[in-house]
Amino acid sequence: MSISNLKQKKSRITIFNEPVICRFCSHDVFIPYEVNVNVEQPGIGVRHARDIAICQHCGEVKLFGDPSYYDAEKDNFIWALNQHLLSVRKYKIKILLYVGKRNNDKITSFINKLIQVLSIEVENMSDLQGGVLLQIKLSSLNEMQTIRFIIIDTAKRMNITIKDLTIK
Ligand SMILES: [Zn+2]
Repeated sequence: MSISNLKQKKSRITIFNEPVICRFCSHDVFIPYEVNVNVEQPGIGVRHARDIAICQHCGEVKLFGDPSYYDAEKDNFIWALNQHLLSVRKYKIKILLYVGKRNNDKITSFINKLIQVLSIEVENMSDLQGGVLLQIKLSSLNEMQTIRFIIIDTAKRMNITIKDLTIK
């Protein structure tokens, strides 16, 4: 059994703080997978889970073990593998919202809440069809659905009606 639990995402991987580097192209971005491999004795059919990492530059497959160990002296488990995910994404978002009677305080609170929760940046704000069109951008590790959920939930809590929401 593998105990490494690496996520199958583009990442840099370290073994005892040493970066894993592709021996062919010297790049260091990989996607790790857990695979089952046959162990030496042919015919016995013993299979073990191992970790492999595929170089995202040249496609070379690197097979590696997990040298994590138990330090009896310190009564401590020393984890060897570390993963640094690279999946920060940039989003551009348009929100068309209504707050009943034009209510700038409410819009300001809504924006402040989004800054607090999602670290958004406001790019533009304009009146449109009796509402307010808000254009914002943000960088996040969150998936698009999660961001959509957070925005809609935040608006709901503040009694703000979202008429249209596009996330790209
Ligand atoms: Zn490579």
